[in-house]
Amino acid sequence: MESYRVVVIGGGITGTSVLYHLAAKGWSDIALVERTELTAGSSWHAAGGFHAINNDPVVAALQSYTIEMYPKVAAESGVDIGLKLSGGIELACTPERMRWLQAEVAWHQMMGHEGARLMGVDEIVDLVPIVNPDGLVGGLFDPDEGNLDPNGAVYAYAGAARNRGATIITHNRVLSMKRTRDGWQLQTEKGPIRAEHVVNAAGMWGRKVGQMVGIDHPVTPILHHYLVTEDVPEIMAIDWAMPAVTDLEGWTYLQREQNGAVLGVYEANPNHWHPEGAPWDFGATLLPPDIDRIADELTIGFARFPALEAAGIKRWVHGAFAITPDGNPLVGPVRGLPGYWAAAGVMAGYSQGAAVGLAISNWIVDGDPGDDVYAMDVTRFGDWAADDSYLLPTTHQFYARRFLTTYPHEQLPAGRPLHTTPAYDDLKAAGAQFGVTWGLEVPQFFAPVDFVHEPSLQRDNALPYIAAEVEAVRTDVGAYETGVYSRYEVTGPHAQVWLDRLLAGRIPAVGRMGLTPMLHPKGTLMGDLSVTRIADDRFWVIGSYYLQEWHMRWFTEHMVDGVEIDNLSGKWLGFALSGPRSREIAEAVIGEPLEGFRFMDARFFGDVLVARMSLAGELGYELTVPAEQQATLWRRLADLGVTPVGDRAIDSLRIEKGFGIWSTEFTQAYTPGETGLDRFIDWEKDFVGKEAALAERAAGPKRRMVTLDLGDCDADAVGDEPVWVGDRVVGVTTSGAYGHHVQSSLALALVDADVSGAVEVSVIGERRPATVLTEPAYDPSGSRMR
Ligand SMILES: Cc1cc2nc3c(=O)[nH]c(=O)nc-3n(C[C@H](O)[C@H](O)[C@H](O)COP(=O)(O)OP(=O)(O)OC[C@H]3O[C@@H](n4cnc5c(N)ncnc54)[C@H](O)[C@@H]3O)c2cc1C
Repeated sequence: MESYRVVVIGGGITGTSVLYHLAAKGWSDIALVERTELTAGSSWHAAGGFHAINNDPVVAALQSYTIEMYPKVAAESGVDIGLKLSGGIELACTPERMRWLQAEVAWHQMMGHEGARLMGVDEIVDLVPIVNPDGLVGGLFDPDEGNLDPNGAVYAYAGAARNRGATIITHNRVLSMKRTRDGWQLQTEKGPIRAEHVVNAAGMWGRKVGQMVGIDHPVTPILHHYLVTEDVPEIMAIDWAMPAVTDLEGWTYLQREQNGAVLGVYEANPNHWHPEGAPWDFGATLLPPDIDRIADELTIGFARFPALEAAGIKRWVHGAFAITPDGNPLVGPVRGLPGYWAAAGVMAGYSQGAAVGLAISNWIVDGDPGDDVYAMDVTRFGDWAADDSYLLPTTHQFYARRFLTTYPHEQLPAGRPLHTTPAYDDLKAAGAQFGVTWGLEVPQFFAPVDFVHEPSLQRDNALPYIAAEVEAVRTDVGAYETGVYSRYEVTGPHAQVWLDRLLAGRIPAVGRMGLTPMLHPKGTLMGDLSVTRIADDRFWVIGSYYLQEWHMRWFTEHMVDGVEIDNLSGKWLGFALSGPRSREIAEAVIGEPLEGFRFMDARFFGDVLVARMSLAGELGYELTVPAEQQATLWRRLADLGVTPVGDRAIDSLRIEKGFGIWSTEFTQAYTPGETGLDRFIDWEKDFVGKEAALAERAAGPKRRMVTLDLGDCDADAVGDEPVWVGDRVVGVTTSGAYGHHVQSSLALALVDADVSGAVEVSVIGERRPATVLTEPAYDPSGSRMR
């Protein structure tokens, strides 16, 4: 039987890039297996455009890497890939959109992208004379955009991989896969193949290939059109590299193709195609154009680029690509399937192909993707995301909103409500406006039931309600629903020893809780957890609800005999009470005095786990009950006059206290020293990541987490904004909010270790003065909480 260390399934831009990156790391006992010919999925008919912009900074950096790789792979393989780095312009038709682009320029500055800048209408027309300037306000020019020959790029990666010893087998469909003691056994049309690792890079077939190993990936094909024009005299007259153009209000993108142009459409009403995955016998064929579906957007497109309409259409390209609910790929290992790797759902293969190849090859060879790739990690969705009732509306929404502005705190409707807590109906009746985390509805703030939220780049109309919730917590008592936490019960004779090694902090005594970072061996964060010791051999480990699958994968990879983990998320939850009156309320609920119940004490009173702590920085008691009692608990709290508070108020409260949370201040990209989580490390013991953490401690962290005070301004930072000293970017904001109690706009930021005093922060792209605070803006001594 043929045998390889790695078999990559799928010969599109993703699979060939994965193969190349594995080969570049020195592995040659690797093969790519392709159903028909290389490029035969979505890759052959792509328009070949690429860009570096992405909502997630790490994915954006990896997209820049993808672009940097093209000339290298072309040179190494000797294949002409028709690379044109023409730059690109995003057009704005409203002042609001222009402000959004101004914020995007700041984002480019934060990323260190030189050359991204706003552009006036005259300059846009000078560079792209076929643009009709009617209604245009301006645009953003990004030099790191361009296009290439999509087939050439695939063959370049394939050729370079082959030159480094990789094998490519075409006309050989993988029929099934089975896990054996020796790894994976693949049945293929040309016979069985054994592999230590298999990579699912099957594009539009990715869902079906996943099902071969028993997993339903949330990925589905969706249709997409572009047209190619006949020769356009106005384009033939352009003797410079004409930038690509994206008309954000016009739903279209344009790039030069020889003497004509490609005009692509992201329509408001897209269609899926074979949601279960493309048919196995689907050839490299185009689908008949469905012009009715895109007629409205095309009309706008031809009005913006009138010369195209006059030239006539040479060719329609109507095909499909794989898409996920948030538009980013699904990458990485899957819990319970050792040696299986997802590299699926790559919607923008020519912007992200090398990004996926690099991450997967690092992960397979070194055991780590090399960066914080959570934004494309397969664990960012649970099983629920592959249900068509969720997958189809969310992918439809992502596609249809491709060029639309999503405002800070804007909540999109598709696929909701999917999961709700038992108190959902009561909280809704109390005026909760919900957001969503990992499919779960979570209150953002509470307002009158007929309130209509109007998101904005500046402060939105939720502000007065958030202010009232903050006031309640600081002066009376508020309750925050703790469904947003994940809970894992760890039991067994080796539970304590196991946790002691996996977690960097001290394991608490029975009846106490502790905060602890969990580290990667390379010293970066893998969690900011709390541990409650309920009995000698029974612990509750608490983290963020949305990280369940990610944490469970890490726990499983590090599992030892004598330890059991039960994921209790959703089975136990309750409310976190915060505020001066919280003790009185907690006592009323449990019917016992809490005299002598110290800060960080945690124990059961009947069915209620009471834990004394507060994310808001006030006296606080978390009450956790079995799920079936949560609604009753809420009604009791409401009867006692407790004010419900949502995520938005908690952000304001915690930022006033300088408290970070996972996903903003704490991520896989940061270290305990940088984020201040090193104060929870027990340096006396042995733990995963200790060597790296000690090295950081000895050298001193290069950056540190600080609170910035932006004073009295009309908009707040939201995260990922550059922090400046003069013309030097010295850091990045991680989150921001109006500090309702201290009455100032605040942000948390990761800045160079030597930065202090006066700085500037780009808020909606405008540089505003700010001060690095030397202590939290509220209750620096922590006396109120203790
Ligand atoms: C009209 C159109 C225009 C586009 N324009 C752009 C653009 O300008 N820029 C951009 O970045 N993206 C663009 N895209 C998207 C782009 O085409 C995809 O992101 C990219 O091609 C995905 O590459 P892939 O390798 O992941 O998947 P694919 O190219 O689909 O490759 C998957 C491969 O897996 C093979 N396979 C599947 N199952 C098996 C099996 N069981 N055994 C063996 N082999 C198997 C298939 O035959 C196929 O070759 C466009 C898409 C369309 C439809």
